[in-house]
Amino acid sequence: MSVSRPENLNVSRALAKRMLDLRHRRGWSIATTVEHLAAIGYVISPQAISKQENRESMISVDQAVALTKVFGMPLGELLAEPKCATCGDTPPIGFMCRHCGLEG
Ligand SMILES: [Zn+2]
Repeated sequence: MSVSRPENLNVSRALAKRMLDLRHRRGWSIATTVEHLAAIGYVISPQAISKQENRESMISVDQAVALTKVFGMPLGELLAEPKCATCGDTPPIGFMCRHCGLEG
């Protein structure tokens, strides 16, 4: 008998996707993301981030909190599915999203 996995517990997977999306929107490479995290005292290797983005490992709560600082958004927003498909609720700084009207 196989044990089914709860379908609604995909938070860590969603967070990894969100991290990838947010760094892309900012034009950050993995190395740049590592530098931003290091600047606020969270040390992680580029390989570790790469593994997280490839769903080979999970993001810790400590890292999630560090990401809120680096991306400048509350944890709830970081974990939530973005409402706007165009800008992901985070248009680039100095730009307004033509789809939802949010300003970056
Ligand atoms: Zn938008």
